[in-house]
Amino acid sequence: MQELTNKIDLEFDQQHIWHPYTSTLTPLPCYPVTGANGVYLELEGGRKVIDGMSSWWSTIHGYNHPLLNEAAKTQIDKMSHVMFGGITHQPAVDLCKKLVSMTPESLQHVFLADSGSVAVEVALKMALQYWHTKQERRPKFLTVRHGYHGDTFAAMSVTDPDNSMHSLYKGFLPEHIFADSPECGFFDEWREDDIHHFREQITQHQTELAAVILEPIVQGAGGMRLYHPTFLKRVRELCDEFGILLIADEIATGFGRTGKLFACEHANISPDIMCVGKALTGGYMTLSATLATKHVADTVCGGDAGCFMHGPTFMGNPLACAVANASLTLLQEGKWQQQVAAIEKQLALELAEISHLSAVKAVRWLGAIGVVELHNAVDMASIQQAFVDAGVWIRPFGKLVYIMPPFIITPEQLSKLTSAIFTVLSASE
Ligand SMILES: *Cc1c(COP(=O)(O)O)cnc(C)c1O
Repeated sequence: MQELTNKIDLEFDQQHIWHPYTSTLTPLPCYPVTGANGVYLELEGGRKVIDGMSSWWSTIHGYNHPLLNEAAKTQIDKMSHVMFGGITHQPAVDLCKKLVSMTPESLQHVFLADSGSVAVEVALKMALQYWHTKQERRPKFLTVRHGYHGDTFAAMSVTDPDNSMHSLYKGFLPEHIFADSPECGFFDEWREDDIHHFREQITQHQTELAAVILEPIVQGAGGMRLYHPTFLKRVRELCDEFGILLIADEIATGFGRTGKLFACEHANISPDIMCVGKALTGGYMTLSATLATKHVADTVCGGDAGCFMHGPTFMGNPLACAVANASLTLLQEGKWQQQVAAIEKQLALELAEISHLSAVKAVRWLGAIGVVELHNAVDMASIQQAFVDAGVWIRPFGKLVYIMPPFIITPEQLSKLTSAIFTVLSASE
């Protein structure tokens, strides 16, 4: 009886609670989760499903990790939060030390923010303030199509115009410059014409551009596209040639997901500004950071304002910093490298089988990311149920079925994810 009365009120949920990108008119069913351990989500009633999504790229070490739990518990008994204006604390200092040492060497200044979107807003503001100090009017950003940088206004304005419905917000969103997205895949042979349109755009708009912003190597929520490192190298070269800042949005790719600690390493480049988030706390809570070079930071602060004009209420939250510290310590132990390499190898083999299904247009993979692109968009409600019935949590969008499991996943558990995709997609043949 106790069980019954404690059931999650799904009816209330459907009638009153907004979930990401949902309608109050036609709410889709949600699955009640009561716990999570390792790679498993525990559904109400006791069933367990393997999480193929790492709760949107974040839970790299798995759920309920003893070291992350300990970090949170120890910190909560000291202080959960304290303002960051005029105050500092050990968790923030320890975390920023790690961030400065793990990221490209030229990135020396850290701004802690609350979410990925805010880290992007902060990066864009830094770039605008940089040019303001230099007394140049540079109101535009250049990016590539199929990008995703978040749901807040400035972030949305540099996100793919179709995905973020620029038409809907016309007149409210600043209008920026979009170059064609890279076509050469990560493992393809590089074709120099892939950078052609980007070069044209940067050349044409050079005097009004504050910065280029893009996701290095992996375009995530804008289409799960994995592009060639030389594209990124050319972007860096062109930014240098025209003296334009480069912002790397590593929010999805950072902390090992692509097989390198940061995706920029695939192209051996370092950005002027870099955003991290998602996996920063190992998926425990929201925290992000924007890092900048000394040159950018000092220029930003050298203008009329005399400082960088941003400071969220929960900036540098000690609880989040403490957990992020523990997560980065785990990464520094280095096991992730073998784990992600093994996942990549297995994905290459198992996705190859899936590629033969008639519903499948293409498969691609890199590091701990596996993508199956379909010919047609999925029916969310039914495919979601089919995956849960198969014992896995995979949440497709549009024509994309993709996985990015926790790095700790075993080969057997990973096979269960890929065979669930195989089975569910074969059933639709
Ligand atoms: C998820 C994501 C963001 C936005 O982060 P939120 O924490 O959801 O605000 C920005 N950029 C990229 C590349 C992302 O994947």
